Amino acid sequence: KYSDGFGPKITGISHVPYNDLEALKAQISDKTCAVVIEPIQGESGVVPADKAYLEGARKLCDEHNALLIFDEVQTGVGRTGSLYAYQHYGVTPDILTSAKSLGGGFPIGAMLTTSDIAKHLAVGTHGTTYGGNPLGCAVACAVLDVINTPETLAGIKAKHERFKARLEKIGQQTGLFIQVRGVGLLIGCVLSDAWKGKAKDILNAAEKEGVMVLQAGPDVVRFAPSLVVEDADIDEGLERFERAVANLIKG
Ligand SMILES: *Cc1c(COP(=O)(O)O)cnc(C)c1O
Repeated sequence: KYSDGFGPKITGISHVPYNDLEALKAQISDKTCAVVIEPIQGESGVVPADKAYLEGARKLCDEHNALLIFDEVQTGVGRTGSLYAYQHYGVTPDILTSAKSLGGGFPIGAMLTTSDIAKHLAVGTHGTTYGGNPLGCAVACAVLDVINTPETLAGIKAKHERFKARLEKIGQQTGLFIQVRGVGLLIGCVLSDAWKGKAKDILNAAEKEGVMVLQAGPDVVRFAPSLVVEDADIDEGLERFERAVANLIKG
């Protein structure tokens, strides 16, 4: 749906179901240039890939001489508790994209690749007005100095547990969620049948309590907080969230 209204769309791209290695196997051939995968789907509901799926995709790409590209715009720069999600899975792509957390709020996006592929992208090959912008790069370097440390990355894993425990409890007590999934500080709460399609209502109720949460499609409430959020703020935020849910149930 994100590309609707932006036609004509690029041709020659096939979409296959996520986490379905057989579907990828059926589609890939020696004519395939590249396979693009989100290691954890963000907008589509916070769906982590199975390790075997990414390993299988890597193997298929190698067999067919295709590049494996990970879209890590949402999962990268510490979001999962590893600097990049591919490290969490132990599957290395040929190219990965990075943005969002990379600038800690400042706009910057980047593409990372191997030295072999990078050779083909000399200065001027793919220029943009703001490409290599010194201010943007300086901000991203400062962000990496904070995030790419053992303390911050370990903190993200600990904060995941804090979120998950409380959210699972809220889910059980209210019947709101059937599953709390995700990695690090990219967390999705899957709504139960009774609440299906109502993620937006939950967002609105939370906003009234002064806490901003996200949705990932109509059936998943998404939490993607600051990577250095304090424990006290997590507790306060989830207390507000719990209040919001209680109000919504009361009608
Ligand atoms: C936000 C997002 C994008 C968009 O990135 P831009 O840098 O705005 O082009 C792409 N992929 C994923 C997975 C995203 O979450």
